Amino acid sequence: MSGRIPSGFIDELLNRIDIVEVIERHVPLKKAGRDYKGLCPFHNEKTPSFTVSQTKQFYYCFGCGASGSAIGFLIDYAHMDFVDAVEDLATRVGMQVPMEAVARPGPDLSPLYDQLAAAQRYFSRALRQHPEAARAVDYLKRRGLSGEIAASFEIGFAPPGWDNLSTALGFSEAAQQQLLDAGLSVRGPRGVYDRFRDRIMFPIHDQRGRVVAFGGRIIDQGEPKYLNSPETAIFHKGRELYGLHHARKANPKLARLLVVEGYMDVVALAQFGITNAVATLGTATTRDHLERVFRQCDEIIFCFDGDAAGRRAAWRALEQVLPLLRDGRIVGFHFLPAGSDPDTLVRAEGPDAFRDPDRIVPLSEFLFSHLGDGVDLGSLDGRARLAELARPLCNRVPGGVYRSLLIEKLGELTRLDERQIETMFQTGHRRVPVRKPSVPGPSRRSPSLIRTVVALLLHNPRLALKVDDPSSLGDVAQPGMGLLMEMLELIRSHPDITGGGLIEHWRDTEYAPHVRKLLSLELTVPESGMEAEFDGAIARLRAQSGRRREGALVAAGAKPSELSESDKARLRAALRRPHERGE
Ligand SMILES: [Zn+2]
Repeated sequence: MSGRIPSGFIDELLNRIDIVEVIERHVPLKKAGRDYKGLCPFHNEKTPSFTVSQTKQFYYCFGCGASGSAIGFLIDYAHMDFVDAVEDLATRVGMQVPMEAVARPGPDLSPLYDQLAAAQRYFSRALRQHPEAARAVDYLKRRGLSGEIAASFEIGFAPPGWDNLSTALGFSEAAQQQLLDAGLSVRGPRGVYDRFRDRIMFPIHDQRGRVVAFGGRIIDQGEPKYLNSPETAIFHKGRELYGLHHARKANPKLARLLVVEGYMDVVALAQFGITNAVATLGTATTRDHLERVFRQCDEIIFCFDGDAAGRRAAWRALEQVLPLLRDGRIVGFHFLPAGSDPDTLVRAEGPDAFRDPDRIVPLSEFLFSHLGDGVDLGSLDGRARLAELARPLCNRVPGGVYRSLLIEKLGELTRLDERQIETMFQTGHRRVPVRKPSVPGPSRRSPSLIRTVVALLLHNPRLALKVDDPSSLGDVAQPGMGLLMEMLELIRSHPDITGGGLIEHWRDTEYAPHVRKLLSLELTVPESGMEAEFDGAIARLRAQSGRRREGALVAAGAKPSELSESDKARLRAALRRPHERGE
């Protein structure tokens, strides 16, 4: 959710507009049953998979997986930013976007930026002057960094000790609070202390060049090796890229960006004149990262280790980048030799190792070699299998040259002609059962039940009004439970909210892709059966939570006689339902 426009306004706006009218201005739609259908504007197709639901106030495409609310449509289709999309919609229905909300970005964050800037100056000064800094300087020298590069990346030193920074900057209570809000201090049982101690400090800048966070590397040995600032009001790991600000400064005309794994890699490459590298901050590459990169240039080269973990990370990056492959964009993969990272490779072989086109595997090649792994292309079955595996991925690529290229390549591999492939790609509407256990993780059972409940709520929000005591459903620490609780809460305070309205509450959060996906599922439960399905799922959740509680009580040594009446009631309820579906 954007911090600038109150979420209540967004709810009200999405209640007043009609997504069908919004989309119809751009995409011809036809009524089909309760929904509307048309040719998807996000991928190339000849039979309509693009569906707009008036009841859910949501669109989705079975072919490429595009989905969202009316706001999301304008962002993705018309390339508006969030505020523009909201303003556009508000104008259509004669609503005024709250002025003060647009002009003032919520709480005043400037003290936070000021504190982070002051911290950066403090760490830089400590690297030059602190009596303990010699080890840090030695380390940087050993890694081959010049003073010039260290200065240009504003690298610093957090001295050993618990309160260096808070003594230097926390001169008032307000200042202490800002240090906490900025993630520089931590509140522990024994008081407030500096988060970064005895570390080499890499400031992380936003696109405008303001320091928004830090990465701290341990000197020599210790754990964790890298420590990042936590998420704060101004720092979101899933969006910021280390080095982007420098890359833009060093290259007024950026043609390509290299995406590497660590900040040392970015700095080491810059030392060798490769000034166009950026790194994610201890997270996998997200779609937000990639969108940000593509706003700077048209070419991305991912540098990953050539080992199994590196290949997995590369595959995840590939999956994220497919929907962004518009014409003119280029994506390649540079798999580094075993045992080396960009830092060691550039030292061993010089910058040309990163400029040699022969080392770069084009996306199409990586895609088909990965899918074809273990598939026998000598047999007809194997070739059909490859085409089947490639379908959902190729369908995520918007129409145009890139998609044609992939289909051409697939044609060569499978010896099918391109028209056959296109036909095959477009007849793949599948109904996805609501309880399909596609959520991976250690305890698949409860997430899939939670997932069922969340999916039903998204499709029919008013079901939330039937839940009396949300806190009895389970523990917020269970995967997905936090989302479920928030959703129940939200619907209870906005009983008229639609699915499209709901998903806007999780825009820009880690849940966004999940809730969008759940809302685009076609439930196997008919409309009339939804309520019963929901009641059943809620009862099972309660029973599970009761059993979990019982387990915890027994583990803690409680005898049945020591259980409270409500615990006993929960236990009995749990025991009455021994044959639960799906367990
Ligand atoms: Zn589509």
